[in-house]
This record gives sequence, structure tokens and C-alpha cells, in this order.
Amino acid sequence: MLTKHCQDARFVYNLGLEQRKLWQPNRAQKINTATQMRELAEARKTFDWLGEGSSTVQQAALRDLDQAFQNRWKRPDHFHYPTWRKAGVDEGFYIRDLSVRKLNRKWGEVLVPKAGWIRFRLSRSWPEIEVSSSARVTLDRSNRWHVSFTQPQPALQREPTGTAVGLDMGVHTSVATSNGVHLHMPKLLNPGEAQRKRRLQRKLARQKKGSNRRARTKHSIAKLSTREADRRRDWIEKTTTTLVHDYDLIAVEDLRVKDMIRSARGTVENPGKNVRWKAGLHRLIQGQAWSLFRKRLSDKAARAISPVVVVAVPPEDTSYTCLQCENVSKKNRKSQAVFKCITCGYEANADINAAQTILAAGLAVAGRGGTPHAKSAMTDHSGPVKRQPLEEEVA
Ligand SMILES: [Zn+2]
Repeated sequence: MLTKHCQDARFVYNLGLEQRKLWQPNRAQKINTATQMRELAEARKTFDWLGEGSSTVQQAALRDLDQAFQNRWKRPDHFHYPTWRKAGVDEGFYIRDLSVRKLNRKWGEVLVPKAGWIRFRLSRSWPEIEVSSSARVTLDRSNRWHVSFTQPQPALQREPTGTAVGLDMGVHTSVATSNGVHLHMPKLLNPGEAQRKRRLQRKLARQKKGSNRRARTKHSIAKLSTREADRRRDWIEKTTTTLVHDYDLIAVEDLRVKDMIRSARGTVENPGKNVRWKAGLHRLIQGQAWSLFRKRLSDKAARAISPVVVVAVPPEDTSYTCLQCENVSKKNRKSQAVFKCITCGYEANADINAAQTILAAGLAVAGRGGTPHAKSAMTDHSGPVKRQPLEEEVA
């Protein structure tokens, strides 16, 4: 039944999305949640398989779609245009008018339409779960079912610190900060796990398509991949909380994932002719991790008790600009790691120099000094700019 709910929710979501995409501004007929709900009711009468599913799950999928559009219209800088839900990737559905009960210290139960009471392991305190009014049930790629209870992001406790930081998100697994620190995202897998994954992948290549053995191997690989994803997510949550806690202003590069992949194709020395496909894929995952990082950073900044401003700086030239004399030249970047200005001779770690340039540009944008490098910027959440000049943390 849960699998059917996932399929139904995906079907309704995608169909609703297609309908909205086909709509033209000059059409008299409107498309909104109300019209789509009416059509859903009719479709449920026409198609038995749809009618057999839960109407509340299907309606929740349409509301979810509407929410995705509302988000996009309200904050185009933060949310992408709604995309298709893919089988095997976006498996899940919403439950509204939630009923939950606690069984004991470790287990609870949630009422799922047409499936009855389903047990879940408690990983949150009961009062948090009890107060939520809706939940999302998801199936991850290693076939684990999860239920998450929706509630507003809790307020983030912090005191104003009067400090600012610039972040350079690398094509590698680290963030350089303007105060000279490299924060490392956890390695995808430890050596033993990596070896196991390679072995499984070789095995997969030999196995017959459609066979049960192959499906089992695929499942084992998926399990390793979800482990990687879990670790990264954990690191992202912790790191973004620390940053929002510690700084009043956080300047980041306004990198789009697409640009990031392109720029990753080569270094200054090696413009990258033989980029392997696999490396490309790796960077794609990297890019996704960075967009999640950015998103969590601004989510948390918006919920901070005392204001935190996240400033996005246009990415042009940040890695080639000299912090001392503001000279911009590709020749300044001697290698992936070394920055040496051809005009004034200033020498630094290339990533740290970039982070400091980003900080200076971010401060300029926020009207707090720094170089006028940035042309435009988006502030994710407008904190009052009228405050004591910030101490620039230049190492
Ligand atoms: Zn210089």
C-alpha cells in the first residue's frame, strides 16, 4: 500500500505539473489547486486503479505541487522551477490530518490512509512529533522507509558576534573560509567501503540484466551510496549551524551548480581535455551537496534569533583577484593551490585568497566596506544593515 501511495502521489504530481506547464498566459481557463482537485475527483471515477488509491494522499500531492510553485514565485533565487518526480528517486507521499500514538520509549505508530497503523522507530522526542499536523513518508534508495514530521524550522539561538566570514566552496570536498580554515566534507567512503563498492560494481557489470542476483548487487551498492549521502547531510547540517551561530554576515559565491561543473573541468594549468565521465558525475554530486549547503545556510540564517545576513557574490574573478591590490588576472593563479599576484607579489593559498575576496565583495554589497567588486547581490534574508562596522577577518 505504501508503494502504491508513492506511485499515485508521483503520478498525480507529474500530471499536475505537466498541466501547469502546458498552460499559456492567454488562456481563459485557469489552472490552480481547486481546478486540479476537481479534475482529480473526476479521474478517480474514470480510472479504477486511481480510484482504488487514497484520495487524501493524491490530494496532498497536488497541494505539494502547488506549494512548489508558490515557493518558486515568492523566492525565485532560492527555489528552482518544479521538476518531475522520478521513480526510484523521489519516492514518497504526504499524510495530512495526522494521527500518531506512542507505543513505548522507542516506538510510535502513525495512521497511514488505507494501510492502517504503521510502527516507526522514534528518533525524535515525542512532544516534537505529537504537535505536527502532517508528515511525509519516504522510501530511500536502499529501501528504507522513513517518516518525517513536518514542523517549522526551530529558531536558532545566537548572540550577535560582530564578525563576518567569506566562504569559497571548492570543486573538491572542502570549504575555504576567509579566516584561513579549510572545512572538509567527509570522504565519500572509507577505504574498505570504497573497495567493496568497486568490487560490487565489477560484479554488477558481469551479471545478467533483469536477474535477481543483479538486483541484489544493485541494492548493496545503493546501500553504500545512501551511507555516503547520510554522512554528507549530517556534516552539512552541523557545519551550517556552526557558521550561522558564529557570524553575523556570511558571504558566499553565487555559484550555480551548472557553472561549477563546467569550471571544474580544468585548472589553470590544465584546461582539462580528458575529463573522465565518472569524474564529471562525481562533481555533479559535489555540486548538489553545495546547493544543499547554501540552502541550509540561508534557511538557518532566516530563523536566527539575532539577524544573520547571507550575501551571494557574483562568482566572476573571485579566484583571480588579488586581495592586496585588487589586480585581476588569470596569471595570478599559479596552480590549484597557490595564488601569487603578478603586480604586487602578494602570495597566499588560492582558496583562502578567494574566500577573502568573496568576503570583501560581500561586505561591499552589504554596505559595510570592502572592495566594490560585486555588481549585484541577493540577500537571502534582510537583516538591518545599520550596525557597527564589522571587523574584517583577514588572516
Ligand atoms: Zn596584488
